[in-house]
Amino acid sequence: MLQIIFFAIFLGLGITLVGERAKPVHHFFDGLAEIMYRITGIVMLLAPIGVFGLVAPVVGQHGLSVLLPLLKVIVAVGLACLLHVLITYSILVKTLGKMSPLKFLKGIAPAGIVAFSTTSSAGTLPVTIKNTRENLGVSHSTSSFVLPLGATINMDGTAIYQGVAVIFIAQFFGLELTFTQLLTIVLTTTFASIGTAGVPGAGLIMLTMVLNAVNMPIEGIALIAGIDRILDMFRTSVNVVGDASAAVVVDAIEKQNESDSKSAGQGSTI
Ligand code: ASP
Repeated sequence: MLQIIFFAIFLGLGITLVGERAKPVHHFFDGLAEIMYRITGIVMLLAPIGVFGLVAPVVGQHGLSVLLPLLKVIVAVGLACLLHVLITYSILVKTLGKMSPLKFLKGIAPAGIVAFSTTSSAGTLPVTIKNTRENLGVSHSTSSFVLPLGATINMDGTAIYQGVAVIFIAQFFGLELTFTQLLTIVLTTTFASIGTAGVPGAGLIMLTMVLNAVNMPIEGIALIAGIDRILDMFRTSVNVVGDASAAVVVDAIEKQNESDSKSAGQGSTI
C-alpha cells in the first residue's frame, strides 16, 4: 500500500508539472475519485445492516460484556481528539497564528458542530470557509487555497482514530506489537489519513491499509465498524478544526511577509 501511495503522490506531482497536456489524466482521476466517493456512500448506507449481522451473533454468544471494550475505544478516541485540539492546535494558533486559542475555538465552533453531525469534512467545507473568513478574519485568498486542500489531505482526527483502532484490534487478538510495528503504524496512519476522502466512513475503509501494513487480521474492522459513526463524529470535527488552524497560521505568516516587504519597500524609498 505504501508503494501505491508514493506512486500516487509522484503521479500527482507529474500531472501538475506537465500542466495543460496532462489535463485529460487529471480529469480522469477526478472523475474516478467522485465515483469512489459515491461507491463509499452506497457501501456505508448498507454497512449498518452488515454490522448488525456481524455483531448480533457475537453478543448472543458472549453477552453484552464484549461491548465494554468498545466503550473504552470511544473514550480513548474522544479524549485523544480533545487533547489534540486543546494542546496542539491551541499552541499552533497562539504561537504561529498570533491568535487567542479561545477566540479561535469560539469562531470555528459552528463548523466543528456541523462536522460532528455530518461526519464529512468535504460537506462542512462551505461552513469552514465562512467561519474562518468571518469569525477568524482569514483572508479570502488564504482560505480558498488552504481549506479545500485541508479538507482533502489534512486529517489528524482520522490518523488518531486509526492509531487507536489498530492498538485496540491488536489487543483484542492478543497480538504483541513490536517497536518497529508501532513506528509502521505511525507512518501508515499518517499516509492513510492523507489518502482518506473527506466523506463519512472513509477512515474505516483506509484502516484496512494500516492493518495490512502491520500484518494484522482484516476481520478486526468488523469489531470497530459498529461504533464507527460515533468515532467519525469526533475525528471529522478534529479534521475540520485542524484545517481552520492551518488557515489561521498560513494567513498570519502571509500577512507578516506582506508587512515586512512593505516596510522594506518604504525603507528603500526613504
Ligand atoms: N469522515 C471523515 C472526514 O470527512 C473522514 C474519515 O472517515 O475519517 O473528515
